[in-house]
Amino acid sequence: MKKTIQFLLFAISIILIASCANTRKAVQSGPLQPSILSRKEWNAAPAILPMQAHTPRYITIHHTATLQKPDRTLPDKLKSLQQFSQREDKLSSGKVKPPWPDVPYHYYVDCKGNIGEGREIKYVGDTNTEYDPTGHILIVLEGNFENEQPTPEQLAALHRLVAWLSYHWHIPAAQIKGHQDYAKTLCPGSHLGTLLPELRKSIAVRQRTS
Ligand SMILES: [Zn+2]
Repeated sequence: MKKTIQFLLFAISIILIASCANTRKAVQSGPLQPSILSRKEWNAAPAILPMQAHTPRYITIHHTATLQKPDRTLPDKLKSLQQFSQREDKLSSGKVKPPWPDVPYHYYVDCKGNIGEGREIKYVGDTNTEYDPTGHILIVLEGNFENEQPTPEQLAALHRLVAWLSYHWHIPAAQIKGHQDYAKTLCPGSHLGTLLPELRKSIAVRQRTS
């Protein structure tokens, strides 16, 4: 009888040690990296000008301000965005934008929830508005969210991307914001902007429990 109890205690302690080790492993690995179409995969052109290095401390969300185009592929959209970015062009505001070294954003989320790599994350992004994007990871979602809604697939992809980035770069949930928190702009559009407090809350819960 005594031997049986001893054996049971031994077995329980082994199970406890094993489950603790598993929990620790899960916490250490954090959220998994979502699938991201790399620059190489969409055949990005090299940057045309030097860029400034930075350390990411904020996550800042944008919309493209153009309507979603479900029939075009993600590589196609990234290539057009890069071509627009690297040339001088007139904006709808009438302002002339200078050629940028590369795509201004670090990540692009299309209306189907596919994620593409934009400018390399180690470099500061670009903007047409009055704020300094140094330290900001710039994520853009395809769509004009003043006039249309982000799709459920897009929101799920944004959540996965932000969860992974904030964990990887140790960015607190309070530093996940929209473009209009820093500059005079409608970006990322009211239909996406109103969802950001919810996103922050969900990331904060995740950060507290990990
Ligand atoms: Zn913006």
